Amino acid sequence: MVISGLQKLTLLDYPGKTAAIVFTYGCNFRCPFCHNALLVTEKMQDVISEEEVLAFLKKRVGLLDAVCITGGEPTLQKDLRAFIVKVRELGYAVKLDTNGTNPDLLDELLSEGLVDYVAMDIKNAPDKYSLTAGADVDLNNIFKSVELIKSKAPDYEFRTTVTRELHSEADILSAAELVGKGSKYYLQQFKDSGCLISDGHSPWDVNDLHKVCDRLLSLSFTASIRES
Ligand code: SF4
Repeated sequence: MVISGLQKLTLLDYPGKTAAIVFTYGCNFRCPFCHNALLVTEKMQDVISEEEVLAFLKKRVGLLDAVCITGGEPTLQKDLRAFIVKVRELGYAVKLDTNGTNPDLLDELLSEGLVDYVAMDIKNAPDKYSLTAGADVDLNNIFKSVELIKSKAPDYEFRTTVTRELHSEADILSAAELVGKGSKYYLQQFKDSGCLISDGHSPWDVNDLHKVCDRLLSLSFTASIRES
């Protein structure tokens, strides 16, 4: 595992649980609004060893409930499965964040019961997926991951970070169709962290975003807004 960061406590990332966050290095996407741009574009700096992370987690047994593994894109890490096994052996629940490009590994992890919660990004409507991800995306992998998560994950969410420049109302409705009705779907308000992959993006007016969310709810999608 190439680990670029460790947040020792979050009360927000894993619904209902106290958790630590492990940030893995590198991503196969280049979303312009990426909130972890340095993990994607910069050379590795201040890498924390897996041993150091596990030693920390060992000391927090009984104090924390879970470990959230995020990125970058964690499924690019060749030894992700082995790392998760070690984390679970300490008694932690595991949440995995993914962009959905590695359904084979996701299937393996879910089939073995190694992940308790999956959060998958839905970048945009299918016809704007590659544009939004800044990469040539194989949509079959995205569709497969969505179905795997819905059929095998004990708990899960899908979420789309929305910007005025990349997402129209029609795009959001189309992205929700990709997720399907009955799955938790969050519209995440874009925030400029000051450290983005590219500039020129802005948030939706919050009232407009609520109107789109209401439209999704009226169409029986399980949608809500996440503002932070
Ligand atoms: S999928 Fe996009 S937002 Fe997520 S880490 Fe990669 S570049 Fe950043």
